[in-house]
Amino acid sequence: MPELPEVESLRRYLVREGVVGKKFVKVELEDKPESAHGTGTIVGSNQAIDQTVSSIERRGKQLAMVFDDSVLGFHMGMTGQVHVLDRDELSPRFTRAQFDLTDDHGDLRIALVDPRRWARVQHFGSLDHAFAGLGPDALDPAFTVNHFTQLMDGITARIKTLLLNQTVVAGIGNIYADESLHRVEISPARRVSDISKTELEKLFAAIRISLEHALEYIVSHPDDRGRPYIVDAYDDRMQLHRKPGSFCPRCEIPLATLKLGGRTAYFCSNCQT
Ligand SMILES: [Zn+2]
Repeated sequence: MPELPEVESLRRYLVREGVVGKKFVKVELEDKPESAHGTGTIVGSNQAIDQTVSSIERRGKQLAMVFDDSVLGFHMGMTGQVHVLDRDELSPRFTRAQFDLTDDHGDLRIALVDPRRWARVQHFGSLDHAFAGLGPDALDPAFTVNHFTQLMDGITARIKTLLLNQTVVAGIGNIYADESLHRVEISPARRVSDISKTELEKLFAAIRISLEHALEYIVSHPDDRGRPYIVDAYDDRMQLHRKPGSFCPRCEIPLATLKLGGRTAYFCSNCQT
């Protein structure tokens, strides 16, 4: 987390708070970023000063504030989130960077809050550069089931590992890969080449359903300031509860775990084969 639904809900929140049309007037970074234990970086954000946000775009888990001739890219890492504050409001604990913006309608402050410091903010020359290397967005209407099955053709990697690869499809992380595979009863350890075309088509539909359900849930359950919960929010946006001792919602037996590519998969050893 945050994965596609979380980042899309964040994008909508920023738009709703009136960020589009405002100009960056001040950028402040925390004093001691070197003391971090994460590897997050904040690069070139001073170049956002005097730039006006013309739109906020998302691809996969990446967000970008688009200016006339450049872009400020945001990647939330594992624990990053963005708060929109009043201009004179104190930034919360773990704020790594804050940005002051203004226009004729008023001022606001954006705080990048990230306890574990894995978030990245970076200035790019264009949107193509900001989103370079990303595969098609998992919820892009132009990304079709045929396109998805073609991408899987001839692949021998394990399906979960492939779903996490952002250069293949952008936006799916640990949580929604497990959710989607559970919906279609496919083990995360199956080789892509051992999955039939019909199963892949069902998987594509399950990915869409999992992501759309989560997005709808997040958007309709904001906090008391209208902010989406995008970090450590283990609620009904998902069907699998990712903790030891949780059960398969279908078979009601304990979920199994498996390390694949360094990430823990939660799955049901009975119904997922
Ligand atoms: Zn099961």
